[in-house]
Amino acid sequence: MPMKVLFVSSEVFPLIKTGGLADVSGSLPLALQNLGVEMRILMPGYSPVLAQLQNLQHLAHLHHLPHIGSAELLLGTIPNTSTQVIAIKAPYLYERDGGPYIDAHGQEWQDNPVRFGVLSKVASILASKLSPLKDWQPNIVHCNDWQSALAPAYMRLTEQSRAKSIISLHNMAFQGTYPPHWVSSLGLPHVGFSIEGFEYHGQMSFLKAGIFYADAISTVSPRYAKEIQTAAFGFGLEGLLTKRGDEIKGILNGIETEEWNPAHDKHLIANYSHTKMAGKAKVKQALQERLTLDIDANAPLLGVVSRLTYQKGLDMLIPHLQNLVNQGCQLALLGGGEQALESAFKQIAVQNPNRVSVTIGYNEPLSHQIMAGSDMFIMPSRFEPCGLNQLYGLAYGTPPIVNATGGLADSIIDTNPAHIANKTANGFVMVEASEEGLIACIQRALDVFNHDKKTWKAIQKNGMKQDLSWNKSAQTYLALYQSLV
Ligand code: ADP
Repeated sequence: MPMKVLFVSSEVFPLIKTGGLADVSGSLPLALQNLGVEMRILMPGYSPVLAQLQNLQHLAHLHHLPHIGSAELLLGTIPNTSTQVIAIKAPYLYERDGGPYIDAHGQEWQDNPVRFGVLSKVASILASKLSPLKDWQPNIVHCNDWQSALAPAYMRLTEQSRAKSIISLHNMAFQGTYPPHWVSSLGLPHVGFSIEGFEYHGQMSFLKAGIFYADAISTVSPRYAKEIQTAAFGFGLEGLLTKRGDEIKGILNGIETEEWNPAHDKHLIANYSHTKMAGKAKVKQALQERLTLDIDANAPLLGVVSRLTYQKGLDMLIPHLQNLVNQGCQLALLGGGEQALESAFKQIAVQNPNRVSVTIGYNEPLSHQIMAGSDMFIMPSRFEPCGLNQLYGLAYGTPPIVNATGGLADSIIDTNPAHIANKTANGFVMVEASEEGLIACIQRALDVFNHDKKTWKAIQKNGMKQDLSWNKSAQTYLALYQSLV
């Protein structure tokens, strides 16, 4: 009998996306399905999700859910795929204007504990004998990040699960920590509110519940698996993570090679591949036109697509940006986040209208165009569990400039004589996580770009030829599933 896995996620591309979790949730289940696993994704029925799912049909009613009582389960498929999604239809929780986690003013939804407590609870019910889905009982519940991390606690403490659970850690910075009254509001037994459970400094923590109760733990790169066991990266949970350290599997994310492929990317004016690179110059020119930058094939064009937060380290670029522009560089930035960072970048754009373009907001087509049209991609994250943008940079012949952390360290191989010689160099890695470290790294890249075209082409090609697909990683997830059942 094929293995059945319920993959629980709060965002899934192309239905709804705020970051890398959506990309992973949109592509990993498909890769596992291709390996013969029967995958179903469980997610909240946000309005855009219900609007996009195809062949939507009633699946079941659930009762006795915390706070809301009952909800309906709908089954549909992601457009143009065979991926099955179970959406929780609970209009009061999920059908509202704004993002999945925050309202239109950037404030966290006050009822997020219920919104994601219900997501976790439904996962647990579907893995128990109370499940109304008699013909589809999962062997594994695969939870992702804090939003579904209460599921392993429910599975252990309230529902007597028939399935095993995995928690995948995509970012330790977000933990879902709330006042203790939520323990009873969410129908969790008080026995779990202790150090040996989901209590965290007097609060209740969704993510800690997942890490404590899950049968297996994975994270999205081998380096991050080690880093989160230290105080610098564990965000307070390093003690617990160290206790389970030997069990934490670091599995590097892949990319969706249909969606992110310069050879047939529908968002680009021209397509290209490592054997036919001419299209990249056309895309660069179109990007310069679109962003009203000087049309200049030789100007090194630096690309950024990112949340603008402390994590992403782009504040380190600001003090040196004018100097880079004075050297002839251009910048195309797309992103949003902290006000101070947005303003600082916008101000530099105002001072350099034809050299620096700053687009604040979320824009999927432009993100592809920047990835393809730029010459190098800047990603100096202070921590980066895996990071997908540097992988997209590799695929698009846009060598990434990265800090040596997490998945960036695991995927980017610095351009130095040894790595040039053995044909592995695919980007530039900072020696230290500082302004100086970043600017020195960019200068090294500029030297090669401006004065050593042969090496530049070689590192572009090295990246573009890599197998960045999910194939290998999906096999590793499958092996992890198999080790549990
Ligand atoms: P994180 O999940 O920490 O934000 P990742 O590099 O793992 O970082 O993934 C970010 C994903 O979100 C990528 O697919 C990236 O292209 C996308 N993204 C980030 N900001 C924007 C934006 N402003 N517009 C469009 N896509 C964006």
